[in-house]
Amino acid sequence: MPHSVVRDGFNAYFDAWEADIGSFLEFDKQALAVCGAKAAGLSPLSGLPFGVKDNIAVAGMRLSCGSKLLSGFSSPYSATAVTKLREAGAVPAGKTNMDEFGMGSSTDNSAFRRTNNPWDPSRVAGGSSGGSAAAVAAGLVPFALGSDTGGSVRQPASFCGVVGLKPTYGAVSRRGVMAMASSLDQVGPIAKTIDDAKLVFDIIRGKDDLDATSWSSDSVLDKNQAKTKLKIGVPREFVSAGLDPEVAANFEATLAKLKTAGHEVVDIELPSFRYALACYYVLMPAEASTNLARFDGLRYGTKQVGADLLGDYQETRGTGFGPEVRRRIILGTYVLSAGYADEFYYQAVAVQRLIKADYARVFKEVDVIATPTAPGPAFKIGEKIGDPLAMYLEDIFTVPVNIGGVPAVSVPSGQTTSGLPLGVQLTAGAKQEEILFALGRAMAA
Ligand code: GLN
Repeated sequence: MPHSVVRDGFNAYFDAWEADIGSFLEFDKQALAVCGAKAAGLSPLSGLPFGVKDNIAVAGMRLSCGSKLLSGFSSPYSATAVTKLREAGAVPAGKTNMDEFGMGSSTDNSAFRRTNNPWDPSRVAGGSSGGSAAAVAAGLVPFALGSDTGGSVRQPASFCGVVGLKPTYGAVSRRGVMAMASSLDQVGPIAKTIDDAKLVFDIIRGKDDLDATSWSSDSVLDKNQAKTKLKIGVPREFVSAGLDPEVAANFEATLAKLKTAGHEVVDIELPSFRYALACYYVLMPAEASTNLARFDGLRYGTKQVGADLLGDYQETRGTGFGPEVRRRIILGTYVLSAGYADEFYYQAVAVQRLIKADYARVFKEVDVIATPTAPGPAFKIGEKIGDPLAMYLEDIFTVPVNIGGVPAVSVPSGQTTSGLPLGVQLTAGAKQEEILFALGRAMAA
């Protein structure tokens, strides 16, 4: 079949889907011309197009982070993860929509467009990597990169019925990734299957001299890799509160399936996890408020002119940032300010230590922790946008993972009676992604 026919066919397919879901902010149909020309000797990803969340740099493409403040900005270089994929022969085809600077759970906070769920366009795709998850679910790209600070790869993957991996902190370089909360941020793949996510992860992982927190994957000797029967811990008390009944039933069905496959399921206690959400919503805004200080219109960002220098800052930041970003900057500067830092920020740091200790204790007993990825399926557009606390509750199961620096994957686990996808989150100890892949495969079998 001539390429033009293939491309025209794809163009129509792409345009029809995009009219419904709006997953991309920029898409280079020309880039597809080089796709499909799979060169011998390259990786299995050679010739495949992929989507990149708009807070991850691709040379020559926009890098807006879903923010008006960075509209029109084009990146002069590519993130290490993108460069590695390019070197493996994959082609970055476009930038996907996201909540502004990664803040949100529905992609509603994008300054540019809505992203709808491909399974039901009256519902959200999740967030903040909603564009990446929707694009993969609709078959517009075989995989996409997202970033995950508190669940932004896993929750949209769960809402869209695809796989989303948050690697161990430092497994993937953050070079070229716009910082949100630097101690929690990690880039992760979104793909249709566990094996596709692993293919991408194996290419993007590894030490990068340009990111001091990255570490060499060669150093990981996985003693558990050979294990075929795994011990799965379920934090019963933590998962019982506020679950949608269909999510609860689906979660139990998944556990039953894993038991039938020969894995052991036991109850575990994670007492500090009840504070995880509060801890996250102190640590994350604190770090974000300092990271976002650079967007003052002089060094970075579209400058708005005020009466004087302070006026320039106020105009630029007051009109460039959306309401959620401003809310978190205010929260972050408050919890860090003299007199309040001890009461809030350092308390959150202390809670982080408890959460890490809980993980360390539990991973001596079990190989994997299982929870639902989110408390409910994809919700209706606009349903939670006016209620920040309801939106923050979306992150209840995902944020402990970032606080602990451990890896987790959201794996599709079936559907609600009305046909909405659901996901189960599997968490392992640091550098134990292979266990997640093994159990994720067992779930899909
Ligand atoms: N929903 C979370 C938040 O709004 C997660 C964000 C993320 O992982 N980037 O902070």
